[in-house]
Amino acid sequence: MFYTSTRDKSIKVTAAQAIAQGISEEGGLFVPCELPQFNLEKVSSMVNMSYIDRAKTVLKEFLTDFSEEELNYCVEGAYAAAKFSSAKIAPTVNIDGNKNILELWHGPTCAFKDMALQLLPYLMTVSAKKTADGKTIVILVATSGDTGKAALEGFKDVENTKILVFYPVDGVSPMQKLQMTTQEGGNVAVCAINGNFDDAQSAVKSIFTNAEIKEELAKKNMMFSSANSINWGRLVPQIVYYFSTYCDMIEMGKINAGDEINVVVPTGNFGNILAGYYAKQMGLPIKKLICASNSNNVLTDFLKTGTYNKNRDFYTTTSPSMDILISSNLERLLYHMSGEDDKLVADLMNKLVTDGKYTVSDELIAEIQTMFDAGYTNEDRVDETIKSHFDKYKYLCDTHTAVAVKVYDEYVKTTGDDIPSVIDSTASPYKFSASVLKAVLNGEIPEIDEFEMVRELNRVTGADVPAPLASLKDKTVRFTDVCNKEDMSRMVFKLLEL
Ligand SMILES: *Cc1c(COP(=O)(O)O)cnc(C)c1O
Repeated sequence: MFYTSTRDKSIKVTAAQAIAQGISEEGGLFVPCELPQFNLEKVSSMVNMSYIDRAKTVLKEFLTDFSEEELNYCVEGAYAAAKFSSAKIAPTVNIDGNKNILELWHGPTCAFKDMALQLLPYLMTVSAKKTADGKTIVILVATSGDTGKAALEGFKDVENTKILVFYPVDGVSPMQKLQMTTQEGGNVAVCAINGNFDDAQSAVKSIFTNAEIKEELAKKNMMFSSANSINWGRLVPQIVYYFSTYCDMIEMGKINAGDEINVVVPTGNFGNILAGYYAKQMGLPIKKLICASNSNNVLTDFLKTGTYNKNRDFYTTTSPSMDILISSNLERLLYHMSGEDDKLVADLMNKLVTDGKYTVSDELIAEIQTMFDAGYTNEDRVDETIKSHFDKYKYLCDTHTAVAVKVYDEYVKTTGDDIPSVIDSTASPYKFSASVLKAVLNGEIPEIDEFEMVRELNRVTGADVPAPLASLKDKTVRFTDVCNKEDMSRMVFKLLEL
């Protein structure tokens, strides 16, 4: 199995090279040259497996340059039972009839990012041994909240790595901020920036490709890599849980092997839903991939019209991990669906930088619409959804999950398509306690600190508080730096002592 770049398909690298490097030289993203095919028999054979065995079955088709021992070491380390609060790792919960929730937040930081970021450090260090001859890998992360913490937790004290995380100073929840600023580990640093997530992501991308900085790093025997979902090693672990939930639905008697399901994903950077697309293209019977946006509905507009336009107001919402106007992974979808037209992708991505927008052909968007549907919702309806699902089913969901639930309900109402469905749940409600409590209480909440908020939400709903969040209370804040986006590269020099 080889990988190429969305902007130059003459490039051919191994999985280890793609993962160690993170992003292709000319700015494109690594994509598999072909997709392994899983027929019904193969999918059925995974039904009685543990999550770890399902992961090995899927990943070995993509990481063909990893030995069996290496793959076992990576997967068993990442999904060790002690790190997850559910023995199933990613359990599927039936809510009502054909409506199921795939809970992806039972890992150490209580967001779905753990599903990939527990595995990535293993994949990265094994890849670096194969390709980067002993260099220290410097992970640079721009985060809208959850990636930062999950990456810090995954990489802390991992040999031959350092990790620097930048987050928008006003763009994350109090709990997310606390999780990051109290991070332990000798190889970690965290810095807030005056700007939003897109500013942080753009600055990180330009630092990656800055020749002067790269040269300084090389002198110190270091190299950059990325833990954002632009890295293939972030994306490939996410394909696994689509197969896993399908097998669980068979086990639960909700579907028979071969039945189609719909999948609904609360979307920001288009990584999670793209992993669903790969699963579908590998043969998993997914009918529609439904992209759910909050008020920053740039993706919904694209999927409905074929025009991607980031020139619009940016909203700070109660689902901050989806407050994104530049969805990096859409580039990969465009590459695959345009018949691997690297020139077209390079041209569109160039237009996005110069004009802030691009339009694809009618044929291309029509083709995309055969697989994808999309919808968006606002804050008020998110609150109603959290409350109605708690009142009716005693199911408490976070704000991001509620966006997807609401978009799914609308989808069923307008299309009548109510086949068995899986809605991705991407965070524990306790990561966004104030917003969730406000929704449950139908409005006003007391003026209390974040930890009292957690306790109050627990008192009102009875939902279990995840241990990693409860224990933050006793941790010391270690990182208080704030910088302007123009100063991020200088901050990198300082933090790396270059
Ligand atoms: C990152 C994140 C998302 C968005 O996922 P993408 O892969 O970027 O589309 C949604 N919800 C939560 C809670 C997240 O942390």
